[in-house]
Amino acid sequence: MLKVNDLHVWYELKKFGFGHAGYVRAVDGVSFELTKGESIACVGESGCGKSSLMKAILRLNKPTKGTIDFNGIDVGSLGGEDLKAYRSEVGFIQQDPFGALAPFMTIRQILEEPLIINGVSNADERLKKVERIMEEVKLTPIAEIINKFPHMLSGGQQQRVVIARAMILEPKLLVADEPVSMLDASVRVEILKLLRNLQEKHNLAVIYITHDLSTVRYFSEYIFVMYAGQIVEFAPIRDLLQNPTHPYTRALLEASGDPDAKNALEYKEIPPGEPPSLVNPPSGCRFHPRCKFAIKGKCDVDMPKPMPVVDGSNMAITGNKHVAACWLVEEEWKNHAELAN
Ligand code: SF4
Repeated sequence: MLKVNDLHVWYELKKFGFGHAGYVRAVDGVSFELTKGESIACVGESGCGKSSLMKAILRLNKPTKGTIDFNGIDVGSLGGEDLKAYRSEVGFIQQDPFGALAPFMTIRQILEEPLIINGVSNADERLKKVERIMEEVKLTPIAEIINKFPHMLSGGQQQRVVIARAMILEPKLLVADEPVSMLDASVRVEILKLLRNLQEKHNLAVIYITHDLSTVRYFSEYIFVMYAGQIVEFAPIRDLLQNPTHPYTRALLEASGDPDAKNALEYKEIPPGEPPSLVNPPSGCRFHPRCKFAIKGKCDVDMPKPMPVVDGSNMAITGNKHVAACWLVEEEWKNHAELAN
């Protein structure tokens, strides 16, 4: 359904007055695929490029290089009615539900708006669709809620309105940007379960964007970890949690306090230092200034390419599609070859 191929999103920096002062390489060569009904989590610290990737998929910005293919359509080249049709197939759930809802509109008006924009002119038909989706996301009792304004609802109810608005046009792909990070802990799991139910019922593809690894197990089949605009590890979720391989992934797992992060114990916290400048990223592996496993003369010189991960216990490729961009993986394969000989 969705094929992101060698995507680059760069922002030009202007010198004061005029002139060119370089580029911020927010997304720098990202590729992944998503099939109908699958969910994938995109994880990383602030500034790793998650938001720019999300905006490119929503076509809120244009790729600088590379392509986003949605059911055979080149998203980057869309405009006018074609872009409007694409956006009706991609639902978007924002992080801050209160900020995402117009304060002067009732819940009915908020949920009817996408239908009006997309040509559903019959008011009775619109009302039926609004009531159906409110029922589905458990915004009940409907009669009590439908004419309220957003500020009259709890944070969890507001996020259900955002989800209902994203779902009302029956999209095929849902992009959820930190959908529970601004909610109380007590309602987070409920909202994640609701999203999971919607995904299964409608066979939706979902991209779940988060900085919090502890929530991805509720939701995603696959996961990729981003650092400084690039994917450093990609895996089925269980493989990544059981066998995190890239030192940055292991540091994130350790920081998340995930009790299943058995292999993530070398770091007691996210390694010191900041994510690097995206204008002049470090040579070689972009994580090398913070990595305590960095190999001098190699990690700071050559950029590692994604390689299939080796399972240390049986020296087999783990799971399906587990890859990490780290020279340690190449070292593991060399050890594997030596043992085999
Ligand atoms: Fe660390 Fe080197 Fe692996 Fe980068 S390639 S994560 S610097 S060991």
